Amino acid sequence: MRIECIAIGTELLTTRRLDTNSVWLGEQLAGLGLAFHRKTAVGDSREDLAALFREALTRSDLILTTGGLGPTFDDFTKELFAEIMGVELVEDVQSRDDMLAFYAARKRVPPAVNFKQALIPVGAEALRNPVGTAPGVWWQDPPEHPGVRIVMMPGVPREMKRMWEDQVAPRIRPLAGAAVQTLRMVVAGVPESTLDERTREVREAHGHLDWSILASLTQVELLARGPDAAALEAARLAFAPVLGPDLVSLGDGNLEDAILAELSQRGETLAVAESMTGGLLASRLTAIPGASEAFLGGVTVYSVVAKAALLGLDPEWLERVGTVSEACATALAEAVRQRLGATWAIAICGNAGPGTEGGAPLGSVFIGLSGPGGTTVKPITMAGDRVEIQLRASALALDLLRRAISAGR
Ligand code: ATP
Ligand code: MG
Repeated sequence: MRIECIAIGTELLTTRRLDTNSVWLGEQLAGLGLAFHRKTAVGDSREDLAALFREALTRSDLILTTGGLGPTFDDFTKELFAEIMGVELVEDVQSRDDMLAFYAARKRVPPAVNFKQALIPVGAEALRNPVGTAPGVWWQDPPEHPGVRIVMMPGVPREMKRMWEDQVAPRIRPLAGAAVQTLRMVVAGVPESTLDERTREVREAHGHLDWSILASLTQVELLARGPDAAALEAARLAFAPVLGPDLVSLGDGNLEDAILAELSQRGETLAVAESMTGGLLASRLTAIPGASEAFLGGVTVYSVVAKAALLGLDPEWLERVGTVSEACATALAEAVRQRLGATWAIAICGNAGPGTEGGAPLGSVFIGLSGPGGTTVKPITMAGDRVEIQLRASALALDLLRRAISAGR
């Protein structure tokens, strides 16, 4: 089923109002194992709306609109759909009575323009609005569009949600086939394009699944969707050898989860010493519930003063080797590991810019990793702005640790 969402309202095209209705509806559909193939936000313009409605009717089986049902001059969702279908609008008695009751309960008289809201295209069905005055519309098999369903809902989020829950979802639920399931594989240390290439063959072998690759600064996700659990399991088994040690986790987790789970299981611990990332690493780790089982803590040693006072590094020696150096990363990792008595320690120093620091070029990063087998340092040059470099460095540090743990080094 091809499902399309059209969010109507000029305010949605400005920064004053975000189209949250389509996000909410997308979540609701996901709960039914369904998804949009397209969504659009469009202003209150007759021409734009009419053109969009016509297009939607050629490509979608289910069209969900929100907004433009009100009584004012800029509300014409129902009118335009009726025009396209070549039918009249007629008053829906129930909707008119509902509106009169709504105003009577508030001891008010409805403004004359409000009666416009009770008009429904001939052949369509009104959806009652118990928390507002504009009814919605359910229009199944409109003229010359057999198999199409048009659902018009109010723009006011509270009214839209109530209408969806009470009247729309129950009609759509039976249309959803077997619930779609997702296989999520999180990969680190491999660029998106490399991953694409490396997995092409096995993806094609499982081409009946719906594949996507989602890259962020810190990891790449490979997603497969399909209704058949056995097909997803077969894909997982086929991917395991192709991804090898680059596969971080399956399911909802990310790098941090994978590391903490592995450490907890082994009864091992972790400490961090951060200069350039300023606590980002510790923050990412502590964002995971239960992190305290494996994460002991760490220090943000941004200045020479802090490196000396908190980890006992010699300021004169630091001056000589440089605060962005392999020697500094080694010393920080070893010092924090020893002071906290941790199994593992990560240290990050570098220059995230702008400009150079202590003679180190922009983007140069040293990641120290200290463990039972000794200390190693990964020197790397990273591109991007300050925040990107900090994010990338923290992700790389976590990935180096993850690989070291699983190799038992
Ligand atoms: P209705 O069909 O309920 O009469 P309308 O388009 O006539 O809707 P508006 O006055 O345009 O009503 O919008 C009502 C409120 O709902 C406004 O605050 C508007 O910003 C908000 N709204 C409309 N559409 C959306 C949306 N897609 N996401 C979030 N808020 C929305
Ligand atoms: Mg509007």
